[in-house]
Amino acid sequence: MTAKILSGREIAESIKEEVRNEVARLFEEQGFRPGLTVVRVGEDPASAVYVGNKVKTSHELGIVSEHIHLEADTTHDEVLSTVKRLNRRDDIDGILVQLPLPDHIDENAILEAIDPQKDVDGFHPMNVGRLNQGQRSLVPCTPAGVIEILKRSGIGIAGKHAVVVGRSNIVGKPMAALLLKENATVTICHSRTTDLPSITRQADILVAAIGKAGFVRGEHIREGATVIDVGINSVSDIDLAADLFSEEDLPKRLAAIEKRGSTLVGDVNPKEAIEKAANFTPVPGGVGLLTVAMLMKNTVEAAKMRRNL
Ligand code: NDP
Repeated sequence: MTAKILSGREIAESIKEEVRNEVARLFEEQGFRPGLTVVRVGEDPASAVYVGNKVKTSHELGIVSEHIHLEADTTHDEVLSTVKRLNRRDDIDGILVQLPLPDHIDENAILEAIDPQKDVDGFHPMNVGRLNQGQRSLVPCTPAGVIEILKRSGIGIAGKHAVVVGRSNIVGKPMAALLLKENATVTICHSRTTDLPSITRQADILVAAIGKAGFVRGEHIREGATVIDVGINSVSDIDLAADLFSEEDLPKRLAAIEKRGSTLVGDVNPKEAIEKAANFTPVPGGVGLLTVAMLMKNTVEAAKMRRNL
């Protein structure tokens, strides 16, 4: 079997187009534009790229966006008071504090300080609780993007056995909650799971959110399953690249390693997944593209919920 590649590009573009139309409609009919503020602390280079993308995409869709960049030595209390100030501003509908924060800042305390109505990342315990109760809430962007990929690719979720590998608060746990909400039978695996392949091989839908390059191999995958690869890892080792990529894909990956020092790979071995799965999301070009689109969708959703629209 050769898997169908579920590209995130087209789906992300459709979502962004829908958001653009909704933003225009809100401005015409209600007289406001949703506002998003992204707070970044310190100099993490990956965070700078992510934040840049979020702000740029907001502008493109007509969302008013603002980037607050605080120095790496900003105190916990200063970050906290920035969040509180944003909570009070009526023109701000969404507040996103880019993670990771520097070690001296208590991440949980900052996330809990965000007004749950403005918590467009969906990490506040109030939103986590509402999601688990099946209530309307702001939902973490990456797992919400996975659900969009499945639905918009016509892959049924109800009644399917979905296995999620990873139980982080950012991806694994909300992913499992969303699949459950869509009526899948859900199993969550983690680093203490025994005999992982025997469980993942039962999956109709297998979601990998582990943080280890190419960890999920052919032996983990049931023939004909849908495999969703959330992972984003850099690979610079040529031998590892040869193990991960097909003969067709390998030359351009090796060229990328030579040019930029590394190439991106998910938590699934793409060469083996493509041979066994029926559907597979590529890295790059899969789930990753949905995250920013879902953030935009969440910002509009937050703006509407706050105004009871
Ligand atoms: P975390 O490190 O927070 O969580 C990893 C999870 O994987 C943990 O629950 C851990 O188990 C589990 N795990 C680790 N090793 C194994 C193993 N050998 N067998 C089974 N389970 C294992 O990572 P995140 O959830 O934040 O991210 C996961 C991946 O998704 C990363 O590659 C990250 O880069 C990517 N990501 C992609 C995004 C996107 O936009 N596409 C957004 C966010 C993340 P335990 O709990 O027991 O330690």
